[in-house]
Amino acid sequence: MSANVDTAKARELHRRALVVDGHVDTLLSIASGERTLAERSTKGHVDLPRLAEGGVDVQFFACYIEPQHKPDRGLRRAMQLIDVFHRELAANQDRMVPVLKAADFEAAKGAGKVGAVLAIEGGEALGDDLAALRNLHRLGLRSLGLVWNQRNLIADGVGEVRTHGGLTNFGVEVVKECNRLGILVDVSHLSDEGFWDVLGVSTKPIVATHSNSRAVCEHRRNLTDDQVRALAKNGGVMGMNFAPSFLVNLDTPGFEAKSEQDYRRMVKGKTSVDSVVRHIDHLMELVGPDHVGLGSDFDGSGATPDGLEDVSRLPALSEALLARGYDEEVIEKILGRNFLRVFREVVG
Ligand SMILES: [Zn+2]
Repeated sequence: MSANVDTAKARELHRRALVVDGHVDTLLSIASGERTLAERSTKGHVDLPRLAEGGVDVQFFACYIEPQHKPDRGLRRAMQLIDVFHRELAANQDRMVPVLKAADFEAAKGAGKVGAVLAIEGGEALGDDLAALRNLHRLGLRSLGLVWNQRNLIADGVGEVRTHGGLTNFGVEVVKECNRLGILVDVSHLSDEGFWDVLGVSTKPIVATHSNSRAVCEHRRNLTDDQVRALAKNGGVMGMNFAPSFLVNLDTPGFEAKSEQDYRRMVKGKTSVDSVVRHIDHLMELVGPDHVGLGSDFDGSGATPDGLEDVSRLPALSEALLARGYDEEVIEKILGRNFLRVFREVVG
């Protein structure tokens, strides 16, 4: 099918489209001193030169709070990563601008720069304090992943398989305050119970920045069809995650990679651009074109599909969608318009 596609046409569509990626973990590699955003690296998946090649106009940068900073050092870790975010912005003003409101999406694209959205992955950063949330908003926070895989004071993560917990009382207050301030509530990594609780509380559309379809790939980090329908009814958007373990059922006995190298070896050759398209196909059939976006999980996923080795390869997805017969207008929604719509409704 893809053999007949006009690659030039796909490139042109991709270049013209607003392209938004809802989730990468790049700030951690920068914080560790491994590399900078400014220079093209042979390591990892995302830097400014590769974002430009990949045609990305707006990138969400997550401050992921790793387990070793929990339970009580989350805010300190968030502060370190937010400092990295602002230092990179200051050092790269010619190529990068902060995104604080929806109008900044188009402004970044118009200026030929990457718009950077500050996000947090792990509500440990707030502790038990809404004042911290308000201060994080003042620092530019516009998207909050309530939990990672563990339980925190807001809710249970998907890794808490015994407790079946949803939002705590404090978690309810956090969702309400995010609605009031204009911060996206991100349900990726949230327990199923938490997902339903958030939908019951939030008066604004929600996001699942980096989660796929559980009907296509049976993984707890993906959303069930019922959840996808509810997210669509709520007006939200879910970002397609390129991590191989969220794309296909790997069926590897005892699938627990001992190291990142081990994981890469196990998944090598098992996923491609078409694996992402299969999730999009299913979601389109389920809820139509208004609720799917991108959330690559680059620099967080360890391994990547064939043909999407790093962010510079992103135009290959537009080519695959065009080859699959999707209308250009629908492809533009997937690439970024849906994320923009939700951002406008929630953040303004
Ligand atoms: Zn994640």
